[in-house]
Amino acid sequence: MQVSVVNYPRVGALRELKFATEAYFKGNSSKEELQEIAAQLKESHWNMQDKNQIDFISSNDFSFYDTMLDTAVLLNAVPKRYQQLNLDPLDEYFAMARGYQGKNGDVKALAMKKWFNTNYHYMVPEIEDDAAISLVGTKPFDEFAEAKKLGITTKPSIIGAFTFLKLAKRTGQKTSEDFLPDLIQAYADLLKKWNELGAEWVQLEEPALVMDLSLKDIRLFHQLYRGILPFKGNVKILLQTYFGDIRDCYDNVITMPFDGIGLDFVEGSKSLELVKHFGFPADKTLFAGVINGKNIWRNRYSNTVALMKELRRHCQSIVLNTSCSLLHVPYTLRNESKLTEDYKKHFAFAEEKLSELSELKRILSRSAPTSAEEYIQNEKAFRQTRNSENSAVQSSVSALSEKDFIRSPAFSEREKIQKATFRLPFLPTTTIGSFPQTAEVKTNRSQYKSGKISLEQYTAFNQKKIAECIALQEKIGLDVLVHGEFERNDMVEYFGENLSGCIFTEKAWVQSYGTRCVKPPVIWGDISRTRPMTVDYAVYAQSLTQKPVKGMLTGPVTILNWSFPREDLSLKESAFQIALAIREEVLELEANGIKIIQIDEAALREKLPLRKSDWHQGYLDWAIPAFRLVHSGVKPETQIHTHMCYSEFADIIKEIDNMDADVITFEASRSDLTIIDTLKESEFQTEVGPGVYDIHSPRVPDILEMKETILKMLEKIPAEKLWVNPDCGLKTRGNSETIASLTNLTAAVKEIRESLLL
Ligand code: GLN
Ligand code: ZN
Repeated sequence: MQVSVVNYPRVGALRELKFATEAYFKGNSSKEELQEIAAQLKESHWNMQDKNQIDFISSNDFSFYDTMLDTAVLLNAVPKRYQQLNLDPLDEYFAMARGYQGKNGDVKALAMKKWFNTNYHYMVPEIEDDAAISLVGTKPFDEFAEAKKLGITTKPSIIGAFTFLKLAKRTGQKTSEDFLPDLIQAYADLLKKWNELGAEWVQLEEPALVMDLSLKDIRLFHQLYRGILPFKGNVKILLQTYFGDIRDCYDNVITMPFDGIGLDFVEGSKSLELVKHFGFPADKTLFAGVINGKNIWRNRYSNTVALMKELRRHCQSIVLNTSCSLLHVPYTLRNESKLTEDYKKHFAFAEEKLSELSELKRILSRSAPTSAEEYIQNEKAFRQTRNSENSAVQSSVSALSEKDFIRSPAFSEREKIQKATFRLPFLPTTTIGSFPQTAEVKTNRSQYKSGKISLEQYTAFNQKKIAECIALQEKIGLDVLVHGEFERNDMVEYFGENLSGCIFTEKAWVQSYGTRCVKPPVIWGDISRTRPMTVDYAVYAQSLTQKPVKGMLTGPVTILNWSFPREDLSLKESAFQIALAIREEVLELEANGIKIIQIDEAALREKLPLRKSDWHQGYLDWAIPAFRLVHSGVKPETQIHTHMCYSEFADIIKEIDNMDADVITFEASRSDLTIIDTLKESEFQTEVGPGVYDIHSPRVPDILEMKETILKMLEKIPAEKLWVNPDCGLKTRGNSETIASLTNLTAAVKEIRESLLL
C-alpha cells in the first residue's frame, strides 16, 4: 500500500512566509532573506512528509503568493501593464498579485477569486490577444531539483491545462480555442523537461473537472490532452481531481492514457458509484482521496478500511491519498498548548494527517486490518461520547416554525419608514466595518491574551481607538459610521471565541490568500450564546456621535462556512443553532439603541455547491432561511445591512434579495461592475452599495476614478437605492492609504451630490 499527499500547505506552521513576505513588501528585508525563508519552509515540508513515509510528495506546491499566479507566469501569461513596469521578476509577480503604485507606474492587481468551494483565493490569470503562451519559467524544475538535493524524489505538481484555461480570463477577442496550440506546446515542453530531469510522476491538477461540464468542455479537455499526453515519454501522469466527483467525464477520462487518476471520495458523492459502475482500468493507478484535506477531524479508520476493501474489488492498483491539497487545513496540533487531550484526540491537522496516512499504510498492508492496534484505538475514540450536546439548543431549533423566518412589515414598507427615520443624504456613504489593524491594535490584543495587560487596560485602549475612528470618520464626512472592529482578530474567530460550543485554536492558521491567513473556529458541539459579544463597544461608539453607528455581526452562514464544521450534525442544523445565537445579539443591540445592524454574510456565495443541481436542495434551502432567522425579530425602523465579499451572485440574485436585508454592500470594483446590470434586470429591491474601490490593494484611486465608478452605477441603480462604500473591510490596509481613499470617496460623492442639485 502506498500513500500520497495532493499538496502541502506553504505558509509555515508559524506563518513564517507571511511575515517574511510582509517584511519584504515593507522594504524591511531583502529578496535573498525572503528566498531563504522559502527554501527552509520547502525543506521542512518535504522532510516532514518523507519522515512519515509518504510515497508521493509534491514539489512546486510552494508559492510566494498563489500557484495559479505561478502557472500564469510560468506560461508567460503576463499582461502588458505589468511588463511595462520594468520590475524584476519577483516584483513583477507581486505587482500582479497586489497591484503596484510607485515610481515605475500605477496598475491594479489581477482579479482574485475564491478557489472553488474553499476559502482560499486564487489570482485570475489574464490572457491578452497577443499573449505568447509558452513555457518560460523554471520554478517547477528548480523545486524538483531542490528536493532532489535533499534526497527526496517528488512528483511535481502543476495546475492542468484545462483548469488553467477555464479559470483564466481572456481580455481580447480571441477564444479559448485560439490559445490551444500554444498551450498544448507549453505543457508538452513541460513534460519533455520532466523526462530530461527524470521525474517518475507528474501531477496535473484538474479540479475544474468536478464542475458541471458541457459537451464542449469535455471536447476541450480531450483536445488538450490529446495534444499533451503523447509527450509524456517515461513520465507517468497523474490526473488529480478534487472538491467533488467527475461524473460528467469519468467514462471518458478512464479511456485516456493517464497513468493515475486522483478521485475525491470525501466531497465526491458519486466517486464510488462511478468506479463501481464503469470499472477502473487495470493499467492505471487509482489515487483514492480519502483523508479529508478540508476538515480537521480524525479519519475514522473503519470507514476507510471498508471503502478500500470495496475499491480493491474494482481497482488493481490503489494509492491512498488526501482528498485535496492540505492547504486548507492548519499545520499541526503540536503548537496547541491550551487544548486538552480530550479535544486533541479527535483532531488531525496536516501533520497528523501524515501520521494517519502512515498508520493506514501499515493497517491496510495487513491481512487483517481490523485487528491492528492503531485501528482498534481509532475506533475506540470514535465510539466515546464527546461532551458536545446542549438539549436546550436542540429543542429551540426543533421548535422553529415558519413565522420565525419572516420579518414584517414587507421591505417596501420598511424602506419608507427607515428613510423617514434616518434622513440620510443622497448616496449615503459608509464603510464595511473594520479599520486598519495596525501593529498597536494587534499588540493590544496579544498583550491582553497573554496576560500582560489587564482587561481594563485592554478595553481602554480599544475605546481610545474607537474614539479616534469615530472622529476620523466624522472628519472624512462619512454618513453611517462603524466602530472599527479593533477587538476582532477575525470576523469569524471573534464570534467563535464568544459562542459556547465553538472551540478555538492558538496557531491553527489557514491561508486565505497571499499573506492573509485565517484561524477558523471549530464547531465542536451545539452552539449557544452565553453573553453579549459586541454590545458594549457598539454602544460606546454610538455614544460618541450623532450619526448612526452600525452594530457589526457575522452571519450564521459565514460563521459556519468559515469554521471547521461538525461531521456528526447536518450543516442546516448547525446553521440554525448559530442563527439563534446571533439573533439574540441582534435583539440586544437593538434594545440598547443601535439602529443599524450589519450582519456580514461574506461567505454565503462561496459555499454554493459547485454543481448547479445541488444549489437549492442542501444549501440555499437552509442558508437563506438561516439569515432571515437572525433578523426577523427586529422593529421596522431598525435597518439591517448585510455584506458579501463575492460579487458573482448573478445566478442567485433572487435568493440574495430574498434574504430580506434592507441594504447590502458587496465587492464589485474588481469584477468590472457587471453585477450592476444584473441588479437592474432582476429589479433588485434591497438597497445596494457595490464597492467603489478595491481594498485588497494598497492603491489609492483618485476622486475622478471614484466619481466615474459611482456615475456608472447610477446609470443602472435607482439613486435612492444606491450607497457608496469601499468593497470590503479595511483591516488589512494601512492608515495612510485608508484615509486617502476614503477622503477621495466622500469628495467624489460630494461632487456628485452638488452636480445633481444643479
Ligand atoms: N465587517 C467585516 C470587516 O469590515 C467584513 C469583512 C469581510 O467581508 N470579509 O472587516
Ligand atoms: Zn468583504
